[in-house]
Amino acid sequence: MIEQRQFYINGEWVNPVEAKDHQVIDPSTEEPCAVISLGGQADVDKAVAAAKAAFPGWMNTPKDQRIALVEKLLEVYKRRGAEMGEAISVEMGAPIDMASTQQVGAGTWHISNFLKAAKEFDFVRPLGDHAPNDRIIYEPVGVAALITPWNWPMNQVTLKVVAAAIAGCTMVLKPSEESPLDSMLFAEFMDEAGFPKGVFNLVNGDGVGVGTALTGHKDVDMVSFTGSTRAGIAISKNAADTVKRVHLELGGKGANIVFADADDKAVKRGVLHMMNNTGQSCNAPSRMLVQKGAYDQAVETAAEVASKVTVGNAHESGRHIGPVVNEAQWNKIQGLIQKGIDEGARLVAGGLGRPDGLNKGFYVRPTVFADVSNDMTIAREEIFGPVLTMIPFDDEEDAIAIANDTDYGLTNYIQTQDGSKANRVARQLRSGMVEINGQSRGAGAPFGGMKQSGNGREGGVWGIEDFLEVKSVAGWT
Ligand code: NAD
Repeated sequence: MIEQRQFYINGEWVNPVEAKDHQVIDPSTEEPCAVISLGGQADVDKAVAAAKAAFPGWMNTPKDQRIALVEKLLEVYKRRGAEMGEAISVEMGAPIDMASTQQVGAGTWHISNFLKAAKEFDFVRPLGDHAPNDRIIYEPVGVAALITPWNWPMNQVTLKVVAAAIAGCTMVLKPSEESPLDSMLFAEFMDEAGFPKGVFNLVNGDGVGVGTALTGHKDVDMVSFTGSTRAGIAISKNAADTVKRVHLELGGKGANIVFADADDKAVKRGVLHMMNNTGQSCNAPSRMLVQKGAYDQAVETAAEVASKVTVGNAHESGRHIGPVVNEAQWNKIQGLIQKGIDEGARLVAGGLGRPDGLNKGFYVRPTVFADVSNDMTIAREEIFGPVLTMIPFDDEEDAIAIANDTDYGLTNYIQTQDGSKANRVARQLRSGMVEINGQSRGAGAPFGGMKQSGNGREGGVWGIEDFLEVKSVAGWT
């Protein structure tokens, strides 16, 4: 079992001031796999002070030097990728093959995309020919608190840390207490890459202790948060007293609109996308809307595909899906499956309980509900498990109305072979992202949501801008 109780502050691993032991549970076995410390206000004060002291130096470090350090980070990240895959797999339950490719790969992709965006980014720009004595200077916001979830941990950590570093912000990272091991490993990578003392700091803790201390801290200038809408609201309120910039990447309840003219792989693709990462993705296509006429066949196909999805131990190699992250999440999903049954949805695959032969570990049966109406709880709440809901619709207008009838607005999906229909519908969907016919976002595309899915955008040039102030200077150039 791993024991790592220290935090990374001011370029060193230090003992916590307010230590409270916390066991990290391996969701495949329900056994503890690590012991860490949860810190408190005093640890946050120390880390924020280090970040504040490092800020002037880091802000004035030339862009090329910042880029050179991120290039070194990328080299370390790639070289030590196998260790990262193992850490992610054991603590949050992504099967080792998937963790080593998709989960670790997301980080490689983001760091590479940021490097490209950074090289092209102009931190000083003229206002325009009409105002030859004016210029716009992009400056870092200051000390950033970065708070991340456990579901795609390196995806989130690299999106925040690397963008902040390129922008010239210094930072304190608080990863999820469910998945601290990968972030501690990442802190080693930052150290090995040679970032100056205090630029990057890490304090472990829970939301109530360290999270609240960070988001209310007078010397923290901005919060970049990814997690649940519930926590995002609490953070916004707490950060309001000191007028911080708050960037929120929150939950989702994506619609996958399958028109009758969709290609014949569309339903299968949608089910497998839903089940990936055991359904624990904010952008999961969790409501499959299918046009009447194609609906019955789609339900049959979805049930067949879901029933062939295998579930197993995350430590074993293979293409199965793993357990969900913890007992609370397992119980929540069971409660929502029961709710779906009680509210009259038709269960066509999976259901309550664990898959056969898996009696220990937080395993959930890949589940499909048909005949769901959009006002049912399972169509409104983010389930965050391998549970797909299928909703019939009449026509384009009906599909758009159902898709938009949600508090969330993160990602929606369209399946059709009619290009002009796809473009029309994409324009009407109230979400930060739309993906058509299985096409996923390109390198450096902005990631983020509308409505209660959050604000701001991560990735590429938009991700860097989120950590920047815009200063207008008029006069001598
Ligand atoms: P969570 O909100 O419970 O926790 C996320 C992080 O916030 C953790 O580090 C936690 O300790 C911290 N936290 C919790 N309450 C806090 C508070 N009051 N103040 C400060 N920090 C607090 O979410 P989770 O269960 O870890 O992650 C799952 C959620 O994250 C889902 O809702 C999912 O949709 C969302 N998510 C969104 C995106 C996106 O980009 N939009 C990406 C991944 C996950």
